[in-house]
Amino acid sequence: MTVRKLGEIGVIRLFREAAEPARGELDVGIGDDCAVLKCCDKKLALSCDAMVEGTHFLRGKIAPEQLGWKALAAALSDLAAVGARPLAALLVLGLRGTESVRFVSRLRDGVVRCARRYKTPLAGGDTVRSPQGLLLSFTVIGGAGAGRLVLRSGARPGHLVAVCGCLGESAAGLSLLLEKQRGVTARLRRRLLRAHFEPRPQLETGSRLAALGASAMIDTSDGLLRDLGHICRESGVGADIELDRVPVSRDLVRFAEQRGRDPLDFALDGGEDYRLLFCLPPAKWARLERVRLPSGERPVVIGRIAERGGIRLFHRGRPARRRIGGFEHFGKRSRG
Ligand code: ADP
Ligand code: MG
Repeated sequence: MTVRKLGEIGVIRLFREAAEPARGELDVGIGDDCAVLKCCDKKLALSCDAMVEGTHFLRGKIAPEQLGWKALAAALSDLAAVGARPLAALLVLGLRGTESVRFVSRLRDGVVRCARRYKTPLAGGDTVRSPQGLLLSFTVIGGAGAGRLVLRSGARPGHLVAVCGCLGESAAGLSLLLEKQRGVTARLRRRLLRAHFEPRPQLETGSRLAALGASAMIDTSDGLLRDLGHICRESGVGADIELDRVPVSRDLVRFAEQRGRDPLDFALDGGEDYRLLFCLPPAKWARLERVRLPSGERPVVIGRIAERGGIRLFHRGRPARRRIGGFEHFGKRSRG
């Protein structure tokens, strides 16, 4: 059997099954957005995230500053997903060797801008030759913000499912990059490309949600439904989702209308939005509504966790049919 047939989750399972189960100082191992280490009465969250030329980006389609920003932002988003505050980042940088020094300086500028914005010291890394193309891999370390970290495994039947902010703009930006798109205004084009190239990890919101008692959380990197599937699998539950409640921006609706597409195509399967998707016992919702969160990150309830496994979709209360897509590294769809 090939890796393509086995799929990304299957490959991860190969390692997960062979790895020692978490014990001792390792509190949480393979399977969540971050691993968790217990260290001197504190909990540390660890994660790494790689961006590979040809898989995550195409050379010449993304500015080096944006590449630097996006690679770090995507890694930090995994800290947001457990409610951790960033403590440090390490960068593995793979270069062909033929890049100009100016290119690398601009890449660095993007990394530094993101590191400053999210108060993350760049603490080290490794620089290697990578003849097949550019590679940026960030390892990030975070501390438990309000004392607790939120895992994918804590969702229980009856908990609300909510998402923080609009979905789908990143995927729309990607479609702008890959296909010739006429009739899109410069403003709309700028906005959608920005969503794709300069994601904003929801670190502040993540640690607030952890403090408030979110029961499970994940960042939407692979597409809303695929990421919700990870929560359901790790928690041993299912979910009922109201598609008409999934938040989409007016800009995305306008863009989709122009293309004759359904905005939900972008919002449900697109990925790379890096919005927080979380579960919360209903009794805690009223308190969450009183919390101040960064603009555009207000949570919207899109459904409920159910005892029966699987994700069931509804539209205006009626069952809706839809294939659950999302990003799969070894699938037909690849990012560009
Ligand atoms: P995310 O989308 O949040 O970055 P992934 O889907 O990449 O998460 O990974 C899911 C889980 O599998 C994480 O806990 C990650 O650390 C783990 N993982 C992924 N690849 C490997 C690997 N090659 N070896 C060990 N663990 C892995
Ligand atoms: Mg994640």
